[in-house]
Amino acid sequence: MASMMEYHVVRYIVRKALRLQVDEAMVSFKDSIKATRFIRENPNFLVVTKKGMLYCGICGRGPFTRRGLYLHLMRVHADDIARAIESRS
Ligand SMILES: [Zn+2]
Repeated sequence: MASMMEYHVVRYIVRKALRLQVDEAMVSFKDSIKATRFIRENPNFLVVTKKGMLYCGICGRGPFTRRGLYLHLMRVHADDIARAIESRS
């Protein structure tokens, strides 16, 4: 599992990418900038939309609801996402 710090940022990025409500106080200002940039530069990394249905951008599973894909990404891919954020930002 990613460190607590990374886990918070991962959760924030996944929620943002899925347009779920985020608590801006959850992450530092620096991390929120990082998150916004990561999503903009990697638009299909977490979420792929096909015919209005949501699929996991990492393993292709789906379709999911937004909430379902959020849970899937956090349960299965939190470490992959933390690594990607580190290496791509
Ligand atoms: Zn997946």
